[in-house]
Amino acid sequence: MANKIEFLGTGTSQGVPMIGCNCEICRSDDFRDKRLRTSAYIEYEGLRLVIDAGPDFRQQMLRSGIKELDAVLLTHMHKDHTGGLDDIRAYNYFMHKGFPIYAEASVQESLKREYAYAFGDHRYPGVPDFILHTIDEHPFNINGVEIIPVRAIHYRLPVLGFRFGRLGYLTDANSISEESIEKFKGVDVFVISCIRREKHISHFCLDEALEVCRKVGAAHSFLTHISHQLERYEDLCKVLPEGVEPAYDGLSIAF
Ligand SMILES: [Zn+2]
Ligand SMILES: [Zn+2]
Ligand SMILES: [Zn+2]
Repeated sequence: MANKIEFLGTGTSQGVPMIGCNCEICRSDDFRDKRLRTSAYIEYEGLRLVIDAGPDFRQQMLRSGIKELDAVLLTHMHKDHTGGLDDIRAYNYFMHKGFPIYAEASVQESLKREYAYAFGDHRYPGVPDFILHTIDEHPFNINGVEIIPVRAIHYRLPVLGFRFGRLGYLTDANSISEESIEKFKGVDVFVISCIRREKHISHFCLDEALEVCRKVGAAHSFLTHISHQLERYEDLCKVLPEGVEPAYDGLSIAF
């Protein structure tokens, strides 16, 4: 079965360009420097999944023409990864059912606060219909297909990366244990967030991201969750080591 990842968004929480910014990166006319909030569409063993649904979710689904989806997987509760979930309503409408969301219990608590109107006993007609599935650090399956969660730390917040066979995906972290790195070993394609060159309190900077890539050892690694403080796509390609590339919105990779 053909497995693929399509990058729906590769930008940091504010996106690139950032509102009001006039820097060289935000002014770039290269389409690969225009980054919606970080999200990915994955086809894996027949499953059609989206990882994270930030504020650009609707635009991303329209742009990629994604008419049907089996589930959304959430890495953590931050708004740039969950702020677009109201638009799940379109999938409720056309697929005539509640929509499966896979998230940790702590993330679900946050969803119940942020989307309180979707969870009450007396819900207004037409509100999103979420079916919450609880995941943790143990492998889980969707329609019989196994997915392996991988723990990492995002300042003080535990987040989950995911392994889908020969693909590893990790965003919004600045620390990962050797035990977690082991779970990614053997992938062909590895995706990791990298916000900028300078050290950051909650995200891997470039050197740290490259170090994780080296330890995981995938033939092809891609950087995502990129801010306007990292070089333009074209300039970044020239300085990254062999086997590491910046991702860009719309990039599709088979695995
Ligand atoms: Zn983020
Ligand atoms: Zn800028
Ligand atoms: Zn975050």
